[in-house]
Amino acid sequence: MLVGIKRETRAGERRVAATPASVRQLAKLGLDIAVESGAGVHAGHDDAAYRAAGALVVPTLDENTIAPAVLCHVAPLTVEEACRLRPGTITVGFASPAAELPTVRALAEAGVTSFALELIPRISRAQSMDALSSQSLVAGYRAVLEAAIRFPRFFPLYMTAAGTVPPARVLVLGAGVAGLQAIGTAKRLGARVSAYDVRPASKDEVTSLGGTFIHLDLDAIEGSGGYAREMSEDRAARQRELLAPHIAASDVLITTAAVPGKPAPLLVTTAMVQGMKGGAVVVDLAAETGGNVEGTRAGHSVAVPGDGGTVTLVGMKDAASAMAADASRLFAANVANLVELMTVDGRVVPDFADDVVAGACLTSEGAVLHQPTAAALE
Ligand code: NAD
Repeated sequence: MLVGIKRETRAGERRVAATPASVRQLAKLGLDIAVESGAGVHAGHDDAAYRAAGALVVPTLDENTIAPAVLCHVAPLTVEEACRLRPGTITVGFASPAAELPTVRALAEAGVTSFALELIPRISRAQSMDALSSQSLVAGYRAVLEAAIRFPRFFPLYMTAAGTVPPARVLVLGAGVAGLQAIGTAKRLGARVSAYDVRPASKDEVTSLGGTFIHLDLDAIEGSGGYAREMSEDRAARQRELLAPHIAASDVLITTAAVPGKPAPLLVTTAMVQGMKGGAVVVDLAAETGGNVEGTRAGHSVAVPGDGGTVTLVGMKDAASAMAADASRLFAANVANLVELMTVDGRVVPDFADDVVAGACLTSEGAVLHQPTAAALE
């Protein structure tokens, strides 16, 4: 059975859904692998490396040349790409179902069995397939580096003969996977780190990384599956009011707050950014889903004139792609582990009695199986 690895075409996408190591893992299962030429170039893998791992390298994978039974990709497919797939094709990759409804409809209408890595259940057994986590890890790390490079001061404390340099104060809003990585990275760089999340359960994780957890006088909002829920506008306004003094006291602000399937919550207004010290840096990791910070533009760095000087506001875009080699290493392992779970005797045959397989399936046999997406399409 042929597994195809797509050369990504979306602007800014530098990752690849398979590495030579994951090709070897798939080949051991008795699968044949075809990689589109150049697919791994940004992740550091040339065509020869894939050939050496046992893959066939092809100019393109399509219905006129080599049509794979399983297509692995990173970014969500376009409507055109979905329409070109043969009925019965299996796809594995990110699908952004809430944002890409036309593609979901096209996948269903094309009779494709699509697996969306965003839908992998957050249970222990599925951790090795959890691409949201692996890519958030990369993004959280990268966000801190983006801040550090723009911040005109050191992160660590330095006591030198020429005087003492105080450590940077870093505040992280949202302590999920990306936020925790940001906390750990900022700590390793020597900053004094505090963090806030609407889920009180994150407190222990923040403190175990050496961060200080900020309590706000606001009831916890915890939804199902360990995720946050959307707040009412009144509560969100109260949250911003309570966060303002913490933000004003910080040199670097990293925001990572998200609510699955919803636009990012607005945590920081322009007035709050203007209240920060001159030279302060704000990195909004949620910029691509609307932003946690007012005025954020994904892929842009904006100078905000503030009360104490200029504040730099960075709207992160393609954060994981910026570290394409390690992001792809982890992503490819997630993909291969899901394909392995579904492979029996050299054939990929999804067993819908398995709750990981059923949970991750977006479309099958003409239907949209993920209920919130099906409801949004009605
Ligand atoms: P996410 O990307 O959906 O959101 C990031 C963080 O933003 C979350 O911690 C969320 O609580 C927070 N947030 C949302 N609205 C907020 C607001 N208004 N103010 C402040 N913070 C706000 O989350 P994620 O990183 O995907 O993780 C979500 C949960 O899933 C966490 O509890 C995490 O530990 C858990 N998780 C479990 C597994 C597993 O068991 N396999 C794997 C990964 C994550």
